[in-house]
Amino acid sequence: MKHRLKMFLRESVARLVYHTPLWRLCDLLAPRRLLVLAGHCVEAPSNAFLAPEMKIREETLEELLSWLQRRFQATRVAEGWAQLQGSSGKSLFALSMDDGYRDNLTHLLPLTERLDVPVTIYLESRPLEGEKVNWMHKFFWLLERMEVTKIGHRYGELTKIERDDILTNQIVAAGIDVVYLWKKMLKYDVDPLERDRVMDLIYVEAGGEEAALCADLYLDKDGARSLAKAGWELGGHTVSHHSVSTLDEDAQRREIIGGREALISELGAGCESFAYPFGRRWDFDETSVSLAREAGFECAVTTHAGVNTKASDAYRLNRWMIDDSVKLHLVAAEMCGAFLLLRKLGLDLSE
Ligand SMILES: [Zn+2]
Repeated sequence: MKHRLKMFLRESVARLVYHTPLWRLCDLLAPRRLLVLAGHCVEAPSNAFLAPEMKIREETLEELLSWLQRRFQATRVAEGWAQLQGSSGKSLFALSMDDGYRDNLTHLLPLTERLDVPVTIYLESRPLEGEKVNWMHKFFWLLERMEVTKIGHRYGELTKIERDDILTNQIVAAGIDVVYLWKKMLKYDVDPLERDRVMDLIYVEAGGEEAALCADLYLDKDGARSLAKAGWELGGHTVSHHSVSTLDEDAQRREIIGGREALISELGAGCESFAYPFGRRWDFDETSVSLAREAGFECAVTTHAGVNTKASDAYRLNRWMIDDSVKLHLVAAEMCGAFLLLRKLGLDLSE
């Protein structure tokens, strides 16, 4: 089916289901399911420089959670996965937030307490020490201060590769998103350790102070403990947020198992579920899956959209990414099982 026709049908079905009692019929007919929402930050001064796709406004999130809360059962991820194995009860939704940003404590906690929605937070263990942020935040911080081509040029100067040559003015002129290209290249096509070292250098040259950035942006251990005390599930998200498929087995082990051990020993976290950093199919591999299992996680989540049923793979659970452009009718259609039912009938309207 042509992509545009598919997207048109997807929109139409979602609006129909959302605006009529059809959602109730779909909910009755579809197998019991768990929808996991995945975000990063609620908009706050501490995350002002982060990319828009990492943020959602409180009003947007409140509208979404309220709609779900009135119709389905709110849960945390690991608990929800266990509940899904039982045969009865309402379908479930869980809100998960990745990385461990400070706004989760200052802005999200008051909101979710008021709405009575529990949260799962996937914590990188290294920023909790208060000194180190991952390379991407330095990249975003630099973008606030200089052109991406300038960052690229300096990156080329400091490394043997001269990747800035492939990202010339011609690409800018052709309207290709150079920031996206650089992000993609730094994420997948370069040696991760060298990238970290070089981004560090460029960041410091530009006047960046990593410990201060970390303290502003991320939760510290006390902050994470406060969330646990408030009933949040603390889940694993590695030590320092690499796309783990780019690492060898030993490094993956240090990231996945080491991250879990740090959260347990330093926060007393249960650490029952895990989120693969970046979470796309190519960001983790069979080694990552078996390490997540070996680490003791009961389930693991990706960033591929869709609901989960009892038959889903516990270590490849779907999540629905949310930012301020989230469309409630699409989330509603997924949550009530409309897309799931259509797929069973041979019509796949997934993105
Ligand atoms: Zn993450």
